[in-house]
Order: sequence, then C-alpha cells, then structure tokens
Amino acid sequence: MAAPDRTVKGLRRPVILMGPPGAGKGTQAKQLAERYGVPHISTGDMFREHVRRGTELGLKAKAVMDRGELVPDEIVVAMIEERIGRPDCAVGFVLDGFPRTVPQAISLDELFGRAGRPEPVVVRIELDPAAVLRRLTGRRVCKVGGEIYNIYDHPPKTPDCCDKDGGELVQRDDDRVDVIQDRLAAYREHTEPVFEYYRRRRAVVELDGSASPQAVTRTLVETIDREEARGSHL
Ligand code: AMP
Repeated sequence: MAAPDRTVKGLRRPVILMGPPGAGKGTQAKQLAERYGVPHISTGDMFREHVRRGTELGLKAKAVMDRGELVPDEIVVAMIEERIGRPDCAVGFVLDGFPRTVPQAISLDELFGRAGRPEPVVVRIELDPAAVLRRLTGRRVCKVGGEIYNIYDHPPKTPDCCDKDGGELVQRDDDRVDVIQDRLAAYREHTEPVFEYYRRRRAVVELDGSASPQAVTRTLVETIDREEARGSHL
C-alpha cells in the first residue's frame, strides 16, 4: 500500500524563521516548505546562487559574506521584493534569513501592507553560542542538492559524500571559526533588535533549537497550525 501523503497544501500567512546562524533555520524551512507545499525563500541561498553564477551581485555579496557582515539593506530588500512578487508566493511562503535588520523588517511590513497580506507568523529558534559553534564548524552542505549534514551529530554514511545523491559535501566559506565570530557579532548587533520590533507589535513564538531536527519540526508545525487557526490578527 502506498504511504499516505502527509503533505498539507497551503499556508495563508507568511512564516518568518529567525534565530542565530546554525540554529537550524535552513533545515526547518525546507521541511515546512515541503509539508505545506510553499516556497522556501532563503536570502543566503539566493546570494550563494549569485556567487556560483558569478553575477555582479554575487561578486559584491561574496566579499561581504566572507567577512561575516551583512549585505546592504536596499540590495536584500529589492531581491526579496522581486522574489515574493512572483506568482508562487501569492499565498504563503517561508522566509529564512530575512529580515535581519530593523530597516529590513520595516520594509517587509510595507511590502506586506501594499500587497494586503496577513500578518506573518514570526518564529525565533533559540540556540546557545556553544551549540552554534559546534553546529557551524561541523556543518557540511551537498554541492548538488543542498542537503545539510553535521560531521558530529548527523554525519553522512560515507565521509564527504551525500547520502541522497552522492554529491560532494563541502564547508561553507563563512563557516570558518574567524568568520563565525563576526557573523554572531552581526547577529547580536543587527538581528536581536528585530525581535523587539516584532514583539512590540505582535507575538514572536520562541522555540528551543537544541532538540532533534524532527522534534523541532513537530513543534514548528504545531505552532504554525495553531497560529494559522487563530487568524492574522494577533
Ligand atoms: P545565511 O545563509 O542566512 O547564513 O546567510 C549567509 C550570508 O548572506 C550572511 O552572513 C550575510 O552576509 C548574507 N545575508 C543573508 N541574508 C541576509 C540579509 N537578510 N541581510 C543581509 N545580509 C544577508
């Protein structure tokens, strides 16, 4: 007998996944996008794709990313505006890595307001700095399909080789220890204030990111389903 289709299509409200680098935003966003059948929009992945293609934006972004700094707001906002204006984002989508500054959050609100979108569900995935360091230094990413591994907690069956498609597993340039410290500093300085921005106006749901990825996904799904049922007026 065929396995039941657990995919629940649709999501009325945009979901914003926040949290420090390494908290598991990318892994979780992928799961949610699959479950609800909506796009996973990662600004980091979009920049890495530009770098891979060698575009002008990619060249500019790479220099910034390699220093663990943030790409200027106007560039990121323009990229997001174009992306969420596409037809596949007409209803719900999952944002991963955006907004990362208060000006980005304000711009996103303006974009949502103009498009008449409902309030987003904002989720903060928490992880302490020691766990962040272990996650980031151990992270390996498949060059082919983008599958994420961790050499300590979730190693591939064969070293450096993706279980799913045999692709080569590589370390991100910005997962080096010196760059990680700068990314964490950028997070504290620019992204922590975004929680205050959202908290003042609506609930931010906080989750413990140190649990297993499956447990975090379960809690996330429960949270999103509950928030969707409550409607957009928090
Ligand atoms: P991530 O994959 O989300 O860790 O992003 C990797 C890098 O891309 C970050 O360290 C930044 O340099 C850049 N980046 C991604 N998203 C943003 C954003 N919303 N604002 C500014 N820079 C970003």
